[in-house]
Amino acid sequence: MPETLPPQEARRAQVVERIAAWRDFRRGSITSITGRCGKANCRCHQPGQSGHGPNFRLTRKDQGKTISETFSNPAAGPA
Ligand SMILES: [Zn+2]
Repeated sequence: MPETLPPQEARRAQVVERIAAWRDFRRGSITSITGRCGKANCRCHQPGQSGHGPNFRLTRKDQGKTISETFSNPAAGPA
């Protein structure tokens, strides 16, 4: 049995540590979103524009309800 953790194990431990340190940690999933908004005159509807984003959406369950929160980057966290 090696005394040091394999690299992927160490990395996983770091990630778990980071998540645990995140204030107000909640179970959920984060997805990134790119796309066009509802404003027809917005630049994202112009040809050749890639649209908005990426924005990050956190989807989680709260007391049986699915709640989605959108925030501009992963560091910002839900508002
Ligand atoms: Zn737009």
